[in-house]
Amino acid sequence: MSFTLAIVGRPNVGKSTLFNRLVGKRLALVDDQPGVTRDLREGDARLADLRFTVIDTAGLEEATDESLQGRMRKLTERAVDMADICLFMIDARAGVTTTDEVFAEILRKRAKHVILAANKGEGAAADAGVIEAYSLGLGEPIRLSAEHGEGLNDLYLHLMPLA
Ligand code: GDP
Ligand code: MG
Repeated sequence: MSFTLAIVGRPNVGKSTLFNRLVGKRLALVDDQPGVTRDLREGDARLADLRFTVIDTAGLEEATDESLQGRMRKLTERAVDMADICLFMIDARAGVTTTDEVFAEILRKRAKHVILAANKGEGAAADAGVIEAYSLGLGEPIRLSAEHGEGLNDLYLHLMPLA
């Protein structure tokens, strides 16, 4: 059985980097899929023997007149409702921000399953942020480096029982 994973989190934490890593070059069909706007990118993901649909919440990175918070809430709720599992990403180098806390609250209320990921986790500069991530009340964070492909084994171990 397959599942849908939504990657959510504030701009610049590394969502699209992880999306691209999971999807590789299998993005060709995205534009043809009905019901998927440019705010939500959808792709066929592969992680070891797991095959699933992954959604990247891309719309937050575009500049519009609407406030980030307003768009964030709407877009996140849409992604969360489409997904079986949400991967909530923070930037371990930056630590937990107030915006992260708003996301965490939405996810705690609405998401079926949440996996917490502390990205940019390579190197000692991320140590404090990874520890801080526990304060979000979403369980143990996975230490990821989407850019360097580190921590994907942990992600696999979290996804496998839910697949
Ligand atoms: P998004 O806005 O959440 O989709 O974030 P992006 O995927 O566009 O990444 C934002 C920036 O963070 C880019 O410059 C990425 O190269 C960088 N980035 C993503 N993942 C990592 C990581 O694991 N480590 C570091 N150091 N930088 C990363
Ligand atoms: Mg992005």
